[in-house]
Amino acid sequence: MTVGVGGFLLKGGINGPGGTALYGIGANNVVRYTTVDADGEVYHIDEHGVTRLDLDMKEVDEVPAFKAKDLFFSMRLSGPSYGVTTEFLYKVYERPGTYGY
Ligand SMILES: Cc1cc2nc3c(=O)[nH]c(=O)nc-3n(C[C@H](O)[C@H](O)[C@H](O)COP(=O)(O)OP(=O)(O)OC[C@H]3O[C@@H](n4cnc5c(N)ncnc54)[C@H](O)[C@@H]3O)c2cc1C
Repeated sequence: MTVGVGGFLLKGGINGPGGTALYGIGANNVVRYTTVDADGEVYHIDEHGVTRLDLDMKEVDEVPAFKAKDLFFSMRLSGPSYGVTTEFLYKVYERPGTYGY
């Protein structure tokens, strides 16, 4: 693959034959984003909620839950719309075969 992981997981994620059919696109396999918003605040965004981090990257407070799920799903294919994602936690799988182009 010749593309960056940022765009692959935020705007794409089609794998070689077998991969996408079995596991979905890359964007659907992200478990948690660490994202910096336009104000410089850093957040963990996952299916359970949105949590703000301090300068030591420790979780300090939760953003109200009603926003959380919406934002997690909205992150998929959003690219840079909500901020710059600096870390991705995502599921990995054993590949069914080798493929390159
Ligand atoms: C030769 C080639 C092969 C390809 N192969 C595949 C493939 O096998 N599977 C597939 O799914 N797609 C493939 N693509 C398409 C590719 O997934 C998209 O072009 C992808 O968006 C590229 O991501 P990038 O980070 O390299 O590019 P960029 O152009 O840097 O990023 C794409 C978008 O995501 C945003 N972005 C990138 N990183 C971040 C970040 N950390 N935080 C917030 N926003 C960010 C950028 O601002 C931009 O809007 C291929 C493209 C090419 C040219």
